[in-house]
Amino acid sequence: MSAAEKLPDTDRTETVVAKRKFDVDDVRRDFPALQQEVHGKPLVYFDNGASSQTPQQVIDALVHFYTHDRANVHRGVHTLSQRATTSFEGARGKVAQFIGADDENTCIFVRGTTEGVNLVAQTYGRANVKAGHVVLVSEFEHHSNIVPWQMLCDDVGAQVVKIPALDDGSLDQDAYAALLNEHDVNVVVFGHVSNSVGTVHPVKAMTALAHQHNAVVVVDGAQAVPHFKVDVVDLDVDFYTFSAHKMCGPTGIGLLYGKMALLEAMPPYHGGGDMIDKVSFDGTTFAAPPARFEAGTPNIADTIAFGAACDYLAAFDWAEVEAHEDDLLATATEKVGALDGVTILGKDVQRAGVLSFVVDGVHPTDLGMLLDRHGIAVRTGHHCAQPVMERYGVDATVRASFAFINTLDEVDVFVAALQKSIDMLR
Ligand code: PMP
Repeated sequence: MSAAEKLPDTDRTETVVAKRKFDVDDVRRDFPALQQEVHGKPLVYFDNGASSQTPQQVIDALVHFYTHDRANVHRGVHTLSQRATTSFEGARGKVAQFIGADDENTCIFVRGTTEGVNLVAQTYGRANVKAGHVVLVSEFEHHSNIVPWQMLCDDVGAQVVKIPALDDGSLDQDAYAALLNEHDVNVVVFGHVSNSVGTVHPVKAMTALAHQHNAVVVVDGAQAVPHFKVDVVDLDVDFYTFSAHKMCGPTGIGLLYGKMALLEAMPPYHGGGDMIDKVSFDGTTFAAPPARFEAGTPNIADTIAFGAACDYLAAFDWAEVEAHEDDLLATATEKVGALDGVTILGKDVQRAGVLSFVVDGVHPTDLGMLLDRHGIAVRTGHHCAQPVMERYGVDATVRASFAFINTLDEVDVFVAALQKSIDMLR
């Protein structure tokens, strides 16, 4: 092998580039949607957990594709198709690097977290989960990480068993260990960060324990990747899935990471073009991952912009971003927690991005509507996590979900508007 061909010692070498200094006022100028007023007040966007806003750099990537490179990928010999393919596959490398994956072929583009979980349930699950097996699912899960497992287990005669939540807002680790001992557990399923409470779950330790019991671990990272650095290799998870639209990327695109040995042994999900090796009426053989799981024309433009979102986020020093977000969440927790009649879910556990609370005698929807009149966007409802709402004895909460684009001044505006709204409704 010539020097020019020589591969780096490890696929995980990252090019060291100077990081962009994190300055929230400077960062906010990148986001056109943040420059507007709502009901005559500056927009305070605290619904990042539902969907983040989009920086101009990501919008530019979309416009660039549609303006210059629009063509189908993987099959054209012409220039536009080759440019589209290079950008599309380049995005795979960017997302892989963003989550620390050591092989970009372990990264499958999906529509989002929901599709990522369904893909694993319907391929790995169908091939491996049998009658009598148990799939352990955390009580904190979003419906998208419960229902696909119930559908699978109903079909194959297996059982979904919940890993219970504790009163303080954490997952019961003793019960988890006991359940692994008690049952023939094939798959363990949990979120990295709860979308309804914000709890950060101990992924690495839970994964190591599951592996001692030969169970495969599927992690929903939708609420983690926007807030802190995730390294799937270090965590040793088997599958990890998340959505671009919660991390400054477009809607309708996301990622499923899986360990290569598992992906190679899995049957396809959808059948169609691009996922085959050879098709004949005698039978079909399938392409290797990731193509095996990406049938049909992919969401090319949004995938390229997903890559741009990774570039955008990776440019920052994440220690600075995390410190800023910790400050926002701690300040909001303290100030909202001090208001009369407010109960914060998981107040004292380690949380990321989410402040979920109820107020005595006030319905969350009414609060949400009044806050909107102050230009403040929050989410109210069950957050697609009805089991954990039931666990904490509420049917809905107000959820303020923060991102690095938010400021401490906005927290003050929010707390003042919240107090006013509570006073009006009581
Ligand atoms: N899991 C979690 C923790 C979420 O917060 C969400 C989005 N609310 C989802 C899964 C579903 O994501 P998507 O709708 O992008 O598939």
